[in-house]
Amino acid sequence: EYISTGELAELMGVDVSEVISTLFNAGMIVSINQRLDADTIQFVADEFGYEVEFITDYNELEIEIPEDRPEDLQPRAPIVTVMGHVDHGKTSLLDYIRNTNVVAGEAGGITQHIGAYHVELPDGRHITFLDTPGHEAFTAMRARGAKVTDIVILVVAADDGVMPQTIEAINHAKAAGVPIVVAITKIDKPEANPQRVMQQLAENGVLVEQYGGQVQCALVSAKTGEGIDDLLEKVLLEAELHELKANPDRPAVGTIIESRVEKGRGNVATVLVQNGTLRVGDPFVAGVTSGRVRAMFDERGNRVEVAGPTIPVLVLGFDELPEVGDQFVVVPDEKEARAIAQKRQQIRREQMLRKQRRISLDEISRRMAQGDRLKELNLIIKGDVAGSVEALSDALLKLSTDEVAVSIIHSGVGAITESDVMLASASNAIIVGFQVRPTSSARQLAEREHVDIRLYSVIYQAIEDVRDALEGLLSPEK
Ligand code: GDP
Repeated sequence: EYISTGELAELMGVDVSEVISTLFNAGMIVSINQRLDADTIQFVADEFGYEVEFITDYNELEIEIPEDRPEDLQPRAPIVTVMGHVDHGKTSLLDYIRNTNVVAGEAGGITQHIGAYHVELPDGRHITFLDTPGHEAFTAMRARGAKVTDIVILVVAADDGVMPQTIEAINHAKAAGVPIVVAITKIDKPEANPQRVMQQLAENGVLVEQYGGQVQCALVSAKTGEGIDDLLEKVLLEAELHELKANPDRPAVGTIIESRVEKGRGNVATVLVQNGTLRVGDPFVAGVTSGRVRAMFDERGNRVEVAGPTIPVLVLGFDELPEVGDQFVVVPDEKEARAIAQKRQQIRREQMLRKQRRISLDEISRRMAQGDRLKELNLIIKGDVAGSVEALSDALLKLSTDEVAVSIIHSGVGAITESDVMLASASNAIIVGFQVRPTSSARQLAEREHVDIRLYSVIYQAIEDVRDALEGLLSPEK
């Protein structure tokens, strides 16, 4: 037994009386609050043209995490992800910061990449960096429901300027609502032209301070180290604006950043503690697995006994390998941890309805026809040439009505990629392709993630379909 008749109707965006009468016609009498079994849900979903999807969001099941009282909250370090075009210097920047800001007393061990690292600046302030640069990992986590990053450092090479992946990174950060701090890198190079980069950024909707905007921007070199203190200062300033807080005096809650099987150690995973304090011996649940913290290590291989908010630690003691993006929660005892994990596994096996369906154009049309309220339609536009992308984007934006705001969260020239699909999945967007096709990996991912990709070779047809959908007139694709 899963959700109630009323909840099912709400999930599908139909009137509950319709669901009740459909079941009545099939010989079943149900009430609004009655919980329905899997077969009944399947039957109703079929009748209303819905697919029953597999739940992947088991993180929320069986555990309720209590809210903190405001008086228990203390300022915490920001968690930062570095994004930007390939070869623009993301890794070099991360390495430079890591190597020049050693936490005192912890030097010695060889640095291991555990997926995140934490630095203490000379003045005692802290920053945590996620060590997997790029927007792919960032958006994959977000699609899994994990929100880890507070601030994005957008890296743009001063000698190369804004490139396609720079724009992707901007749009992924914006779609997630995460503030950006710009790092214009490689300023030591003779051909560096930071002014041009700032102008290109402005053209792409990122107005840096030097250009009269709100976005902080530092000029840096990972080769000479110039400007990096300034960059970190700006990151901390941005963090202050957002008053990041956590409660160190509670059982830990965090996210799995990496996981692997290690010889002699078994299942290990990096946990980024986001709230509370994690201690050796703590029993925990992580996704559909559980365990007890047998040992913890920092990224220099030193054993640690406790890890507070924003500290990443390599944890030993998982019964099974957790998945990246899984939520990690400390619970009162190991038996309970195991019971919760088993329950989650069982539920996952039984395949429950997912809470939120990904949107499709057909579904929008159906909902609009029923007079349902849809506030926004997120689109990703890909086309064969810049001119057609622009023309299509302009025309689609004009379809916004008082009720539905059409918003284009990303657009670009070229095939529809996995990155586009992940962004669509994380932002509940529809992808519109004009004279382009998805790559085969993107197509597979779209199927798994239930992302609607609409392909057109005539601009007018694309516009008409979206307009029809918004008016509730689109006839479903077969
Ligand atoms: P990523 O793909 O964005 O991670 O870029 P990398 O950090 O791997 O850097 C790409 C190349 O640019 C490498 O050859 C780096 O040595 C070089 N590079 C990175 N940062 C700088 C810099 O500030 N100055 C100079 N001169 N070269 C840099």
